[in-house]
Amino acid sequence: RTVYALSTPLGKAGVAVVRISGPDALQAWSGMTRPATRRADPTSDRQREPTPWRMERRDIVHPTTKDKLDDGLVVFFKAPSSFTTEDVLELHIHSGRAVISSVLSALAHIPGCRPAEPGEFTRRAFEGGRLDLTQVEGLKDLINAETELQRRMALQNAGGAAKQEFDELRSDILECLVLLEAIVDFSEEFHEGDEEKLFQDSMSNSSSIIRVLTIDHLNNPRGEILRSGIRLAIFGPPNVGKSSLLNYLAKREASIVTDVPGTTRDVVELSLDLGGLPVIVADTAGLRKADDLVENIGIGRAQDTVKGSNISLCVLSLPDALVQTPEGPRIQIPPSVAPLITPSTYFLLNKMDMVKSPPDMSGGEEVGALGNRAWAVSLRTGDGMGTFLEGFTEVLRERYDFSQDQDGSTVPLITHARHRHHLQTAIDHLHAFTSFRDKYVDIAAEEVRQAAKAIGKVTGAIDNEDVLDQLFRDFCIGK
Ligand code: GDP
Ligand code: ZN
Repeated sequence: RTVYALSTPLGKAGVAVVRISGPDALQAWSGMTRPATRRADPTSDRQREPTPWRMERRDIVHPTTKDKLDDGLVVFFKAPSSFTTEDVLELHIHSGRAVISSVLSALAHIPGCRPAEPGEFTRRAFEGGRLDLTQVEGLKDLINAETELQRRMALQNAGGAAKQEFDELRSDILECLVLLEAIVDFSEEFHEGDEEKLFQDSMSNSSSIIRVLTIDHLNNPRGEILRSGIRLAIFGPPNVGKSSLLNYLAKREASIVTDVPGTTRDVVELSLDLGGLPVIVADTAGLRKADDLVENIGIGRAQDTVKGSNISLCVLSLPDALVQTPEGPRIQIPPSVAPLITPSTYFLLNKMDMVKSPPDMSGGEEVGALGNRAWAVSLRTGDGMGTFLEGFTEVLRERYDFSQDQDGSTVPLITHARHRHHLQTAIDHLHAFTSFRDKYVDIAAEEVRQAAKAIGKVTGAIDNEDVLDQLFRDFCIGK
């Protein structure tokens, strides 16, 4: 069947694109377009087919009444060299509600055509073998990308970078399988020790695959974190400037500020772009020892937020935290926040305007171990905020920007929980194989076969229709 949909957002704009894909796409061309009235003689056009991949200016008409609906540009993509691998016709029309709805309702009169479901064009591209599942996911991520690094990662995967890596992985595993199958198939022709050697080779190859999978991929959460946004928790005692920091970040011109659903009164979230990295910032209730039940609940949630974050910023009030000790002035961490401090915690020493001589942040005695993880600022005057933002963005880049890696392994392989799941399954089977002690080659080979199959599921040898339905449903109509 042929399907059609508006592929651009509905609303007033210069151009709207209506896509028609399927065997009857040419019916829409002959039924709904004709040479632009001011140009050629309409009768000379009757039999002509469109020249594929060339835009033509044509009138868009109703298929039965031949009423002119709009004039626009029409382009025909001939199967199989189209996005869906089917014949595709695109009508580029004026984007106004009445124009769009007249064209869409006219299309309903073309025999064999029906409206497309969400993601149906992409699904046809998948079923036609043009895209594998990681490319479909990449395309979806590209449409949803909000920051530069999300865009780069999605574009690479839409272009098949992950597919290629997973395919290579799978063929490495299949090579291990080939060695085992050789034992089964050719053992009569073997010399003493040949079998043992093939088995050992297969095992040691499997072990190195496990190592690469674990170290390079499974233990590298950057792809998933980048895709969903780096979770940054702001915490600290009450009244130190946490909300002021959030407001400051929200007002910066360069930041994308969107409401994150599920916002509660005691944890306020905001998503923004720091140097191309997507960051979801959560402001939490002030931490202190409280007797009030409601406040304690808030503090509990604040602690959960901090524990669930990828990185955290502990805000302290510099005048409160800077204490005199026999050895001179020192920054002291209040006991209420100390338990939440981890190696991923950075410090913002606020209200610098309230101290006469701010501490030396370049590793001076007062700041001690905090030195390279702390910035002194004043959110009131803005002092130090530029340095802080620059420094903190650099910290995020070091942790999450894959394009800064020197080793050439650019795009993170795992970008979706689904990938992680199948990789883990593959590793489990390879482990089962490498810990084989008795030499039942058939059973051993089955583990390796299952490992290859798990990798295959990432790219699309899927036996679960639900996964497909879910994936394509997440697309909008017209994609
Ligand atoms: P939170 O309770 O940690 O969220 O703190 P708020 O952001 O609500 O700020 C608490 C108080 O400190 C407010 O009255 C702010 O105006 C004030 N404040 C915030 N930043 C600064 C600063 O840099 N200097 C001074 N003097 N006051 C500040
Ligand atoms: Zn606050």
